[in-house]
Amino acid sequence: MSHPSAEDEVVELCSELIRIDTTNPGDHSGPGEREAAEYVAEKLGDVGLEPKIYESHEKRSSVVVRIEGTNPARDALLIHGHLDVVPAQRDDWTRDPFGGEIADGCVWGRGAVDMKDMDAMVLAVMRERLRQGRRPERDVVLAFLADEEAGGTWGAHWLVDNHPELFEGCTEAIGEVGGFSLTLPNDQRLYLIETAEKGLAWMRLTATGTAGHGSMVHRDNAVTALAAAVGRLGEHEFPIQLTKTVRAFLEQVCEANGTEFDPDDVEKTVEDLGPLKRMIGATLRNTLNPTVLASGYKANVIPQTAIAQVDGRFLPGHEEEFFDTVDELLGEQVSREFVHHDIAVETEWEGPLVEAMAAALRAHDPQARPVPYCLSGGTDAKSFSTLGMKCYGFAPLKLPKDLDFSGMFHGIDERVPVDGLRFGVRVLDHFLDHI
Ligand SMILES: [Zn+2]
Repeated sequence: MSHPSAEDEVVELCSELIRIDTTNPGDHSGPGEREAAEYVAEKLGDVGLEPKIYESHEKRSSVVVRIEGTNPARDALLIHGHLDVVPAQRDDWTRDPFGGEIADGCVWGRGAVDMKDMDAMVLAVMRERLRQGRRPERDVVLAFLADEEAGGTWGAHWLVDNHPELFEGCTEAIGEVGGFSLTLPNDQRLYLIETAEKGLAWMRLTATGTAGHGSMVHRDNAVTALAAAVGRLGEHEFPIQLTKTVRAFLEQVCEANGTEFDPDDVEKTVEDLGPLKRMIGATLRNTLNPTVLASGYKANVIPQTAIAQVDGRFLPGHEEEFFDTVDELLGEQVSREFVHHDIAVETEWEGPLVEAMAAALRAHDPQARPVPYCLSGGTDAKSFSTLGMKCYGFAPLKLPKDLDFSGMFHGIDERVPVDGLRFGVRVLDHFLDHI
């Protein structure tokens, strides 16, 4: 029986995964990941593997399998991807977000870049390699996870807490939001490999006052106190603090631009990054963005409490000062609790694995300039780093110069270039030969 090549199969796999709706609304009210997990398990089973499905809650499923390497003396490598996607409003889209259509040289749909593309690339590459009997030297653990889009509580965090044995011997991991290309105005092509992530603090703020009639003199108003605190938080600008990753990234951008790196004017360097400047700009400092306000029920009734939510993000190494500042800004009358809290991570831009990623990119794009960068958001790397793994974002994609890639994440008309998927397959295959 003849099989399609990995480069051909990846397009079909990506499209089929998109057609399985795995919307994660942040609670258990969505369709869950079970169907996608069964699909992935079947594709892995086809080539002689025995993947296991782990269910943390009804329909919240992850798939894990270990592929034995040829050299048992080596440590293992984890390759992880998530199966869930954020919601999509069908009416806003040019094409059906769950149609997996292939048009205009792209695969369209929710998850096309976040991150059914990488799931499909990993499946396609491993299926081809195993059919050809090409095992990597190291053990490779593949994990396709539930719930990343809601912080991984029912996916990566749950597996790390309940089944750490699955990741035994894994010293490094590769996952999402890295390995993609960014073409500078002078046509230099960077490939951003994630080596750090900001930490996150989604907080619920509560102001408590005295309830009363809106017509009377009233000094203890919860709405007033909350609004003032939210205003202080939203307007606060943290100082620029260059972490080692952000500094290395900016230095490399300057080198590619042929300019001198000026640590006192980093915002100018970030300006040159096109659509990516909003994401990279957020890695220069801690940030706070108010996102939810809720209070009261009638114009003439002063409520006893007022509630807000704030999305806070802190740089690696700056968590403590971040919360000190938050508490100072909140003042006496407003308390905070976490809706979700997770660590910042940062690892080194050196060693054989980094070299293998860089070499694989250069082998398939001679113009490639691999660079480390810090992600302003978070991924399942946070969970796996707690097991001591060095985590990298490496889901290689060569992208057209004009594509607003960062805008595709959770965006309308999310799509991935077919050529990008094929490129990613070639790069991952090369990479796995050299791990
Ligand atoms: Zn993602």
